[in-house]
Amino acid sequence: MMTESTRGPVPAIVLLGPPGSGKSTQADLFESVFRAAHIDVGDALRRVAGDRTPFGERVREIIHVRKELVPDEIVRAVLERELERIPDHQPIVIDGAPRCESQVDDILSIIRDSGRAFKGVVFLDLPVEASIDRISRRFSCSECGRKVIIGTDVPDAGTSCPDCGGRLVRREDDSEEGVRKRYRVFHDSTVPVLRRFEEEGKLFRVSALLSPREVLTEIRNRMVL
Ligand SMILES: [Zn+2]
Repeated sequence: MMTESTRGPVPAIVLLGPPGSGKSTQADLFESVFRAAHIDVGDALRRVAGDRTPFGERVREIIHVRKELVPDEIVRAVLERELERIPDHQPIVIDGAPRCESQVDDILSIIRDSGRAFKGVVFLDLPVEASIDRISRRFSCSECGRKVIIGTDVPDAGTSCPDCGGRLVRREDDSEEGVRKRYRVFHDSTVPVLRRFEEEGKLFRVSALLSPREVLTEIRNRMVL
């Protein structure tokens, strides 16, 4: 069990999946069920991209303008920085890396250096049209940051935030065109990563069309958590 962290090595899991496959939702569930810390590499990179430094400017250009994969050394630096603030005894869920084959060894060595045991990669599989449909309906409040789904939480994008009345906004790269490009980049770069973990018996493929609870149950059963 992941909760019995004092009895064995502290586990680390990697979550991979295209945009909208529910990685953050699963990471939140892992947080409440296993007290695992969530490292969202994409979020961490977007935070860096907001820094008014040459480094931040470089990351901003790559992810928001060119919409390309971030170079390995930047991913490594950001991941190491995120790990520094997590206690050694806490399980971790890494979401958003490794995104390409050249990052695999880096990520595995960072996990090993943190003293944790790598349990495997969960791949949340989602078709491209479902990805576009989910992401294009994802907005957040410009004031309090609350996340809402159009058509589920609020009727349309013109609605105010249900919590604070703030304006709802969409992430810069969440347009249909943006999602299509991210999905393609994800697919092309990540397929070799999945193949490698599959060969090592460390890949757990789960349909992201299931409900979040069903996905979690699948993961627990398949990974024996
Ligand atoms: Zn709000």
